[in-house]
This record gives sequence, C-alpha cells and structure tokens, in this order.
Amino acid sequence: MPELPEVEAIRRQLTVSILDRTVERVRVHRRDVVRDTHGRRRGRLTDPQLGVDRRIRRVDRRGKQLIIEFDHGQGLVIRLGMSGRIEVGDAGRRRSVPPHRHLAWTIAGGSSRSTLRMEFIDPRRFGGIHLFKSPEDRDQRVLRNLGPEATLIDGKALGERLKASRRAIKAVLLDQQVLAGIGNIYADESLFRAGIRPERPAFDLNEQDLERLAASIRTTLEHAIDAGGTTLRDHRLPDGSAGTFGAGHLAYGRSGQPCTHCRKSMNSGIVAGRSTTWCEFCQR
Ligand SMILES: [Zn+2]
Repeated sequence: MPELPEVEAIRRQLTVSILDRTVERVRVHRRDVVRDTHGRRRGRLTDPQLGVDRRIRRVDRRGKQLIIEFDHGQGLVIRLGMSGRIEVGDAGRRRSVPPHRHLAWTIAGGSSRSTLRMEFIDPRRFGGIHLFKSPEDRDQRVLRNLGPEATLIDGKALGERLKASRRAIKAVLLDQQVLAGIGNIYADESLFRAGIRPERPAFDLNEQDLERLAASIRTTLEHAIDAGGTTLRDHRLPDGSAGTFGAGHLAYGRSGQPCTHCRKSMNSGIVAGRSTTWCEFCQR
C-alpha cells in the first residue's frame, strides 16, 4: 500500500504536470468512491466541488494523503488505500480505458500545451476521494488526528510522541496519530537501519535510540522518495513508471536472505499484526 514516499513521488510528478492548469470537465464513473463535504458517500456532488472551471492552485501531501487544492480553497484529499493510483496523460492520445477507473478529469493545456487527462484508478477500492470546502475543513475534518510528518521528525519530538507507550515500537510507528506517513515497508526499513528490534516496547528506547531512529526514518524516506517509492504490485507514478526503491530494501521482503550488515539470515514473524522482517543479531 502506498506510504509517504510513494505519495510524495506522485505529488512531485503531478506538480509538474497539473499545477496552475484549469479543470475543464470531470466524469465520475463510480459515485461511491467520492465522499462529499459532509463525509457522505451519497450526497450531491457539483462540478465546481470536483474542480470544474477551477485552477489547480496547490498539489500537497499530508502523511499518506494526496491533496489537490483549487481556487477558493476547495479541493480533494485523495487516499490511495491499498491499490489506488493517479494516471496523467495526453487527453488527445486515444487508448483503451484502464479497468477500475473511477474518475477522470480533463485539464486544459493553456497556450501551446496539450490538454491532459487525469484519472483515479483503484481496483480494490480501499482508497477514495474526500471533498473539502476550505483548508480549515480539510485539516479539522478530513485530516484530523494525524501526527507530525515522518520526514520532519527528530529524536526529541519522537520521544514526546511515544509517551512511554508499552506497545511495540513497530506498532507505534504504524500509528498515523503518532507519526504520519509510515506503513509496513518503511517501519521495517527504518528499524533495521536504526538497529532496533521491531517488538521492543517503545518506552524502552533511550535518547540515543530515539535520535538514531528519527534519523533513520528521515534517511529511509528521503532515499525512497528519490527512487519514486517502492513498487510491489500496484504503485505507479502518474506517467506510468514504477518506483525502484524495492531494489534498495535492507529488511522488508528479505526474510531468509543474508543481512546486509552481518550476513546472517534475516528473521521474519508477525509484529503489530503485520508481517515483519528483522536481523536477530543487528537489531537490539
Ligand atoms: Zn545482521
């Protein structure tokens, strides 16, 4: 499922293609993937709420959520869920309609630039589009209860967020109210890099551990963003290309393979209800 690096890589590519352009039309092929400004799946949608005749003023991200803001402060929070993606291409180029395409926007080109088509595709439909009325509505309703951005965390702030929790450190890292953006892949990668065992209780981490973990989270996420994220199956950038960070994984998906540090075999098991890979010798 897309985590912070995948969504940030998508955001960066989208910014280049759609920022400052105006939406001409929208087609909603599947109504129930959109929630109106009251959070309802069956409310009435208007074209301006979906961006029609509006200029795309910002393309943002908060944790694992993508945000498209139009003139007047209205906009969309896009949750990619398990398998969601955004595709952008030349609207004039004829091609087959991708399966599981739920919404399609036609975006004006402006002088000498071609008209674009932006599509939201989500086979498993755990994702969705949440409309907001204003930036305040977005932050206080749609995105409420999110912790600080994982890319900005330092040891001190991380310690404050953990609040002497008895939960396993991996469980705490996955909790979006504690820290926004980390899922299963980047929890395993960050804990490996920091040399911290995933099942260790959070309260057991001292100041040095917290500093090391915060630095590992930042480094891991930065490298992953630069690589366009990890493509296991569904993740694609808006131009259709895959993320290449999978080749750089040190822990995730490497069960039974030699540890990149000590060469002993990597362990796996269930921690925080999720499949987890770690090195028995390098992570304490
Ligand atoms: Zn090792």
